[in-house]
Amino acid sequence: MNKIAIVTGGTRGIGLSITKGLIAEGYQVAALYHGNEDAAQKCATETGAKVFKTDVADFNACKEVIAKIEAEMGSVNVLVNNAGITKDGMLHKMPEENWHAVIETNLTSCFNMCHAVISGMRDRKFGRIINISSINGQKGQMGQCNYSAAKAGMLGFTRALAQESAAKGITVNAICPGYIATDMTSAMPQEVLDSIVRQIPAARMGKPEEIADMVVFLASDRSAFVNGATMTVNGGQYMAA
Ligand code: NDP
Repeated sequence: MNKIAIVTGGTRGIGLSITKGLIAEGYQVAALYHGNEDAAQKCATETGAKVFKTDVADFNACKEVIAKIEAEMGSVNVLVNNAGITKDGMLHKMPEENWHAVIETNLTSCFNMCHAVISGMRDRKFGRIINISSINGQKGQMGQCNYSAAKAGMLGFTRALAQESAAKGITVNAICPGYIATDMTSAMPQEVLDSIVRQIPAARMGKPEEIADMVVFLASDRSAFVNGATMTVNGGQYMAA
């Protein structure tokens, strides 16, 4: 079987590490991005991934990009829904558009992308879908009603789709990273990051590769009996039951 994987937000941060991790395992990777052309071109040159510009919040754009990827590369076996944004603020100050932008980019994107690949995976009786949620979807985070809701929504979505898909040889799992050193977290004030690190038993932030390693496992045949699971990768910061 060809090993074709899609990684949304696959050209930067955690997604870039996932792209590299899957390529090291012999996958051909389509890395999706939104607007950062420099990062996309660097990713393509350095990793050999094919890069595709799209907005994962746009249902029709997702259908179109999947059709293009399947025409150029072949049937998709692995989908990693990693693209995400934050637009933080206390609820009483949160503009309506910041609610919708975060819900649509983080959560509706999972519907859009899964909707575009799931029929093919069911027909071929194989698929691996991995949704990158967050510690803040598990525990909630002040200033992130939009993000915490979107990331918690991904966990419910994961479990429901896993139940629908298991008999067709498809697994659907979620990963909840803790704080990982990427552009997303480097945008936070240093004193906030320092206070977060003090709450992490491992006494450090995570590395993008540590999320990629979990993705590689969940994409593999070795994980066939892991389905609907929430994999917590956070240095012990939040120990969910
Ligand atoms: P980054 O901000 O470093 O990268 C985000 C990626 O998502 C970029 O490739 C970006 O594309 C892409 N993207 C954003 N919006 C869209 C869109 N509308 N359509 C397509 N692609 C889009 O994020 P991280 O690597 O830090 O985070 C990756 C995932 O992990 C996110 O879902 C995040 O919520 C989650 N996460 C991160 C944690 C952390 O500590 N970093 C902790 C827990 C979860 P472009 O480059 O073109 O802008």
